[in-house]
Amino acid sequence: MPTETADIFISGGGIAGMLAAISFGKLGFSVICADPTVPVTDQGAKGADTRSTAFLQPARALLMEAGLWESLAPFAAPLQTMRIIDAGGADAQPRVQTEFNAADISEEPFGWNFPNWLLRRECLAEIGARPNIDLRLGVGVHAVLTRTDHAHITLSDGSQIMAKLLIGADGRSSTVRSQLGIGVKTKRYGQKALAFTVTHPTPHQNVSTEIHRTGGPFTLVPLPDANGLPASAVVWMERSAEAERLTALRPDAFTEAMNARSCLLFGPLTLTSPRTLWPIITQYAEQIFGERTALIAEAAHVVPPIGAQGLNMSLGDLSCLLELSKAAPDALGSRQMLERYHRARHGEIRARLAGIDMLNRASMAQAQPLRDLRALGLNAIHGLTPLRKSLMQLGLGMKR
Ligand SMILES: Cc1cc2nc3c(=O)[nH]c(=O)nc-3n(C[C@H](O)[C@H](O)[C@H](O)COP(=O)(O)OP(=O)(O)OC[C@H]3O[C@@H](n4cnc5c(N)ncnc54)[C@H](O)[C@@H]3O)c2cc1C
Repeated sequence: MPTETADIFISGGGIAGMLAAISFGKLGFSVICADPTVPVTDQGAKGADTRSTAFLQPARALLMEAGLWESLAPFAAPLQTMRIIDAGGADAQPRVQTEFNAADISEEPFGWNFPNWLLRRECLAEIGARPNIDLRLGVGVHAVLTRTDHAHITLSDGSQIMAKLLIGADGRSSTVRSQLGIGVKTKRYGQKALAFTVTHPTPHQNVSTEIHRTGGPFTLVPLPDANGLPASAVVWMERSAEAERLTALRPDAFTEAMNARSCLLFGPLTLTSPRTLWPIITQYAEQIFGERTALIAEAAHVVPPIGAQGLNMSLGDLSCLLELSKAAPDALGSRQMLERYHRARHGEIRARLAGIDMLNRASMAQAQPLRDLRALGLNAIHGLTPLRKSLMQLGLGMKR
C-alpha cells in the first residue's frame, strides 16, 4: 500500500476529535481522522450516547470560528443559573439551596447544552462538506512511529499515513499515548455515573440543578423541550455497586428511585432514554506531547462529570494548538510548538483536576458530620459575593 500524506492525522473521531478535524480543516490544513467506531447520530438508535455536553461560554468562540455554531444554535438550551442543593440530612430533602446566576458576571449565559448524539450528527455533516478532511470510520490506529520531521501511522486496515502533526484524541485508553510510551496518573473512586434524559411537568427555566446527598451529585441539565414537555439531561453519580443496581432496575422501580433522589424539584420525572453507565476516574497524562504528537481531550485528562469541565478542557487544548498553528503554520508539529503546548496546558489541567477531585470527594461524603460540613461550606461560599463571582469565572475558564 502506498504511504499517504496529510498535514495532520487525528486518532479518534469522538466529539473532541471531530471538532479538532473541523477546526484545523477550516484553517486550510489537510486532515485525516480515523476511528474504529461509527458514531450513532439518532437518539433512539442502539448505542446512542445519552449524555449531553454543556459548552461553556469560551467554547462558543471556537465553535463559531469552526463554522459550527450556526447549525448548532437552534438546538441549544441556555444555562443561565446553576443551582446547588444539599440534601444530605437524615431525609432526602433540600436543606441548603444556593443559586449562581450568570448575570452576576456577564451578559451571556454560563453556556449552552446539547445532546451528544446531535453534536455527532452536526459534526459529521460539517466534515462531509469539507474536501480537505478525510474521515475514516471503522478503522483505528494500530501503530505509530515518529521521526523528527513526521509521524508515521499504520491503521488497522494496513493503510500507512505520514503527517507533520499527530493528534491523539483517542480517549482515556489512548493507543497513541501508549504507542509513545507516555504514562498516566490515575485516581479511582469506585464510582459510576448513570446518564439518561427525562421530561418533567415543571419548566427548568434554564436552571441547571445539582443535588448532593451521598455517592455523588444528581444533576439535571436543561435540554430543549421534548414532545412538548420540559426536558433535562441527568447525570446521577453513585458508588459503583449502587449505580449498577440502579441500571439493572426495571423502568418503574428506577423511576421511583430517581424521583426520590431528585427531591421532586421539577415534579415527577419521566424517563425518555436508555440508561448508560460511565466509570468515574481522574486521570492525566504525565506529558501531553511526544515527538510530532499532541494529546488532547480524554487521552490527556479525564475528570468526573462535575461543572461541565471535561470536554470544555478539551476545547482549551484545541484552542491552544490552533493558536500555535496559526502563529507559525510552517512549524506545525515541531518540537518547539509541542513544548509550548505542554507548558501552556499541563499546569492548568492538573490544577483543574485537583479542584474537581476535591468537589467530587465532598459530594461522595457518607458520614453525617462530613455532609453537614459540606452544607455549611456551600452556604459560606455563596454568602461571600467576591468569592462566589471568582468561582463562577474560574469554572468558566475566564480565570486561572
Ligand atoms: C456522564 C458524563 C457527562 C459528561 N458531561 C459533560 C459536559 O456536560 N460537559 C463537558 O465538557 N464534558 C462532559 N463530559 C466529559 C466529556 O464527555 C468527555 O470529555 C468527552 O466525551 C471526551 O471526549 P473524547 O473525544 O476525548 O473521548 P471519547 O468520546 O471516548 O472518544 C475517543 C474516540 O477514540 C476512538 N478510539 C479508541 N481507540 C482508537 C484507536 N486505536 N484509533 C482511533 N480511534 C480510537 C474511540 O472509538 C472514540 O470514538 C461528561 C462525561 C461523562 C462520563
